[in-house]
Amino acid sequence: MIIAVDGPLASGKGTIARALAAHFGLPYLDTGSLYRATGIAVLDAGIDQTDPEACAAIARSLDLAAIDEVRIRTAEAGAMASRVGSIPQVRKALFDLQRAFAEQPGGAILDGRDIGTVICPDADVKLYVTADTETRARRRWQELNARGETISLEEMLAQTRERDHRDAGRSDAPMRPADDATLLDTSSLSIDAAVTDAVAIVEKRQKA
Ligand code: C5P
Repeated sequence: MIIAVDGPLASGKGTIARALAAHFGLPYLDTGSLYRATGIAVLDAGIDQTDPEACAAIARSLDLAAIDEVRIRTAEAGAMASRVGSIPQVRKALFDLQRAFAEQPGGAILDGRDIGTVICPDADVKLYVTADTETRARRRWQELNARGETISLEEMLAQTRERDHRDAGRSDAPMRPADDATLLDTSSLSIDAAVTDAVAIVEKRQKA
């Protein structure tokens, strides 16, 4: 079984995808970490961030084992991920890796922005997790503050809007729900309630 979980920043998709992976015993790939790691590597290499080929070369040479899990979670890494993610050559460079993960025997669960539309249009279950912008900005702000990153709520709201705009507006693989995705709005749901709903959606799809 392949499960695709898409949605915008801080919608809860990562938490839900991880919980589904544990519940159904499936391997899980957070595809945002690939774009975040590429963004950080582009920064570190000091190359031109708008040079598609140079950025794609960085994406192709990504060493998954060497990803700095702390650094890729910063606001800077998120912004860089969104920038390099709008480069078609970078998306192409990361496509095979994601596809190979999805195709492993027994299936897998992947979360991102274009899993249900581009990476796994053949997924057995597609979830699109959303929440209103203010709720998402507040969640992310609390997360970053807890990690010691100082950012104002207003700035976080502006960054969230900017990221949504770039992710949904890019020409290659824009963030959007697949036509056959089930929408899950987590704005007023606790984590437990959102996970329960997600499990129910997957089980319903499995029976169908
Ligand atoms: O999900 P996360 O916030 O970690 O993703 C960071 C950024 O990486 C997103 O804002 C998006 O620009 C990019 N991304 C993408 N396609 C994916 C996953 C992430 O473009 N499948």
